[in-house]
Amino acid sequence: MHAKKALGIDIGGTKICYGIVDECGNLLSDVKKTPTPKSAGEIYNKLKNIVEHHYDEIDVVGLSSAGAVNLENTKVVSSTPNLPAGYNDIDFSTLTNKPVYVENDANCAAFAEYKMGAAKGFKTVLMITIGTGIGGGIVNDGKLYRGSTGNALEVGSMKIFADKRQKCTCGRYDCWESYASGTGLKNCAVYGAGNYPEFASSIYKDKLLEELTTYDITDGVLKNDEFSIKVFNQWLEYIFVGLVSLTDIFNPDCIVISGGMCAFINTQDMERRINAESVVTNVTVKTAMTENRAGMIGAGLLALG
Ligand SMILES: [Zn+2]
Repeated sequence: MHAKKALGIDIGGTKICYGIVDECGNLLSDVKKTPTPKSAGEIYNKLKNIVEHHYDEIDVVGLSSAGAVNLENTKVVSSTPNLPAGYNDIDFSTLTNKPVYVENDANCAAFAEYKMGAAKGFKTVLMITIGTGIGGGIVNDGKLYRGSTGNALEVGSMKIFADKRQKCTCGRYDCWESYASGTGLKNCAVYGAGNYPEFASSIYKDKLLEELTTYDITDGVLKNDEFSIKVFNQWLEYIFVGLVSLTDIFNPDCIVISGGMCAFINTQDMERRINAESVVTNVTVKTAMTENRAGMIGAGLLALG
C-alpha cells in the first residue's frame, strides 16, 4: 500500500499556489505559483491543466478558496469580491475523475495548524486570521466545525455594538472586523483623531483623516507617538473582546492567530488576559506556523481525509 498524496491548491484573488502534500502535511514538491486568471472559465481551465499535469502523482485534489463552500465541498456559494463573476458556478468535482475537495481558506488554514502547525497536539483549536478583514475556523477532535450550511465561524461579521457606531465594508454596522482587523485599526485612528486629545500633539495632527493608514499607527507606535499608542491599544482591546467571547463560546484549548496583522499582537499578553477574563480557562494563544502555505496544506490534508 502506498502513502496517499494530495495536490493542494490555494486559489487567491491574485495568484494560485499549489504543491503536493502527504498525509502528514509535508510538502513533497516546490510550491508553484501562477497568476489568477480574470474570468471564471479561464480559472477552471487553468486548474484543469494543473491537475492533469500532476495526475499520475496524486490520489486526491484539495482546493482552498475564499468564500463559503457548499456542504458537499464541491462549490463556492457565497460572494467572493476578489474572484470573478461565474466563479460560484464552477463545480470543482468535474476537474478530474479523482476525488476533489474544496473548502473555505480560513477552515483550511485552521486544519493545517491543527494537524501540523502551531496547534499540533491540541484538542479544540480556534484559528483567527487578522488581515484586511477577519476570518476564522475551528477544529474539534480532528473535525472542522462547518455549521448547517458550511458557513460557520464567520467571526469577522460578529457584531460587537448595537448602536451603529462604525460602518463595515460589508455595508452593515459594527462587525468585529470593522474594529479589530487592519481596516479596523485605521477606523480606530479616524475615530481617535476626532475624539482623543492626544491627536493635537500627534505626528499626524496635520494629516487629512481619510489619509490616515494602518501603517501610520503601527509606525507611530514605534516612534512613541502618544496618539498612535492610544489608538493601537484600543484596537488590541477590540481584538481581546472578540477573542474572550469566542473562548467562552467554543472552549478551545488553543487559539492560533495568523494573517498580516498578527505580528503586532503579543500572544503571551493576549493569553494572560483571556485566561483572566474568560469563564472557561485555560487557553493557549499562539502565532500561526504555516502562514501563506496553510491554505494549500490544509486543503490537501482535508482532501486526504
Ligand atoms: Zn461587516
